[in-house]
Amino acid sequence: MIMRPRRLRKSEKIRNLVRETTLTKNDLIMPIFIDENLNENEKTPISSMPGQFRFGISAAILECIEISNLGVLAVILFGIPKEKDPFALSAFDENGGVQKVIRAVKKKLGDSLLVIADVCMCEYTSHGHCGIVSNNEVLNDETLEVLADIALSYAKAGVDIVAPSDMMDGRVLKIRKTLDENEFENVSIMSYAAKYASAFYGPFREAAESTPQFGDRKTYQMDSGNSREALKEIQMDVLEGADMILVKPALSYLDIIKTAKENTLIPVGGYSVSGEYAMIESAAEKGWIDREKAIFEALLSIKRAGADFIITYWAKEISKKL
Ligand SMILES: [Zn+2]
Repeated sequence: MIMRPRRLRKSEKIRNLVRETTLTKNDLIMPIFIDENLNENEKTPISSMPGQFRFGISAAILECIEISNLGVLAVILFGIPKEKDPFALSAFDENGGVQKVIRAVKKKLGDSLLVIADVCMCEYTSHGHCGIVSNNEVLNDETLEVLADIALSYAKAGVDIVAPSDMMDGRVLKIRKTLDENEFENVSIMSYAAKYASAFYGPFREAAESTPQFGDRKTYQMDSGNSREALKEIQMDVLEGADMILVKPALSYLDIIKTAKENTLIPVGGYSVSGEYAMIESAAEKGWIDREKAIFEALLSIKRAGADFIITYWAKEISKKL
């Protein structure tokens, strides 16, 4: 007898009925860039990420409110400070842009919007690396102290989740300990457990002004050829107390998302990075692909690979269509 799987593809209704994976508003997290160099109410376009902006502090707060009203569950905040220095001192300033936005948004929206804050040094350091640098080397353990200070300052501002993205060894443990010692045991950690040294971060570095001034990030971010090592990083973060983990980038690392999902008992997210955004946007602009269909297909593939949630620059736009 001939098998006929086409019977289940015969109409839109039956295709909808049997679809294994669907995208919902609950899956999406929207990144927000807070730029302290802008006027409060100003927003400025990011040229390498058409449709995306950097926001002044009041503009960022309004943007969070708008996103929450659309039914998106969460935002992840990134800051661009006025002053950069070798030690990222402004990253844990209680009056920093990210801290101000966290306080205002939590006051205004309470539990209606989850506020996640990215914990790293690279947007705040003059050299653009994700840690303390000495003799052109990124020092691990000295960096942990700063990361913990940053996470603590976000917790004090009222953040729901801190998301360390630096890839230093032992940072989840250090942050968890610091939060607990300061009675922030209810602040969650979403660790970028498997973050690869990737060419797909290019546009983000323009957005966050975080291009390293010397060398690259290959001594701390992961090598693209490795998947077993990703599992090691993920298991370490789980043991150190991560509540959920991220794989970054997403599209070129769908196998890592799948491995992460199959080998852990905590939620797994995918970060669909700026280069993935720029690829689809630029091809669509040239008329080479159907923009919206490509976006849905890309996001669906990340979910199908096993992601429980997706950080994506399309979160705001796509949520209107879900
Ligand atoms: Zn960084």
